[in-house]
Amino acid sequence: GYHKILEENRKLYNQVQDLKGNIRVYCRVRPFLPGQSNLSTVGHIDDGSITILTPPKYGKEGHKSFTFNKVFGPFATQEEVFSDTQPLIRSVLDGYNVCIFAYGQTGAGKTYTMSGPKVLTEQSFGVNYRALNDLFHISKERKDTFCYEISVQMIEIYNEQLFLLKFSPFCPRKPLHVDTLDIRNSSQTGFAVPDANSVPVTSTTEVIELMDIGQKNRAVSATSMNDRSSRSHSCLTIHVQGRELASGAFVRGSMHLVDLAGSERVNKSEVKGDRLKEAQHINKSLAALGDVISALAQKSSHIPYRNSKLTQLLQDSLGGQAKTLMFVHISPEADAISETLSTLKFAERVAMVELGAAQVNKDNGEVKELRLQVASLKAALAKKE
Ligand code: ADP
Ligand code: MG
Repeated sequence: GYHKILEENRKLYNQVQDLKGNIRVYCRVRPFLPGQSNLSTVGHIDDGSITILTPPKYGKEGHKSFTFNKVFGPFATQEEVFSDTQPLIRSVLDGYNVCIFAYGQTGAGKTYTMSGPKVLTEQSFGVNYRALNDLFHISKERKDTFCYEISVQMIEIYNEQLFLLKFSPFCPRKPLHVDTLDIRNSSQTGFAVPDANSVPVTSTTEVIELMDIGQKNRAVSATSMNDRSSRSHSCLTIHVQGRELASGAFVRGSMHLVDLAGSERVNKSEVKGDRLKEAQHINKSLAALGDVISALAQKSSHIPYRNSKLTQLLQDSLGGQAKTLMFVHISPEADAISETLSTLKFAERVAMVELGAAQVNKDNGEVKELRLQVASLKAALAKKE
């Protein structure tokens, strides 16, 4: 009985998902921070679009609009931001692989969305904690039909090198280095790195403690921790294995929560040496991620996973049945305008393709209507430009 309901539920969910496509992009605008002058470049915001007010050098219209699956303004709460993510969490327990990314320039709010502010309260918990809470909660709800095992792993990618962050407070400061050779395709675990190092967990509190230790075990170079965190990608992976009690059948799902390196472009004339190298690695991997996602959205026959460690690492969780969500962050300040526009352009490339190309055969009235709207808006825009 119950299993059948779950099946029905999954079918329904998949239908909705299918219409939406497996790739979604949400934009979030950071509020002004204390002490900042509040001259905002953000004009109109509605549920699915955002208008940026641009200075004369960006063209005479004085504004640019972008469309996403969802736009969260500066007053959106952590709870609101998470609420649309909830169906994805459920699908992990049904055996899907899910990737959630936070993209944007340093200071735009990536870590805030994924983890929360430095001093955490229950209200300010980020996506990580809320997702884990839901996972544990739903797995308990299903305890009469499924037995779930949940484990976590943390990986940092810095200068195209992978580091496995240890969860032991007594382990040497230097994180374990994962060799390229260890990257393998594993449809079993949905993760390219051997999951031997993933640690079984039973509560959100436990995970928060582990993540704290993991963060502290990030290799600290001469530069400060804070700096490093904005120049490396950090990935929290949650493996879920469920056994259906009646049949003994297994389902495996995974969720990758990725706080990406800052997307800001550095001025080549101003940085040299290590900084320049870091910046080049970051640019390369973020571009590779954008290429992979847009190739997937276009249902292209070749998906260029090989172009960066990040996309290689997540290969089995990007594409196919996997579901991807990207939170794109922007800062409202006037001096961030050029990064804001390049961030939104990147995001639009990732998001817009889907609206144009996905499921041409599905003759859903609403989708058709929306597509027509998009087409006419595009035409109107093209005329203006
Ligand atoms: P990033 O990780 O992109 O570099 P952070 O998440 O560290 O940026 O955000 C920079 C600062 O702005 C932090 O002090 C953070 O607490 C604050 N902040 C970011 N987003 C929000 C938000 N939505 N509401 C309140 N404060 C925020
Ligand atoms: Mg950060």
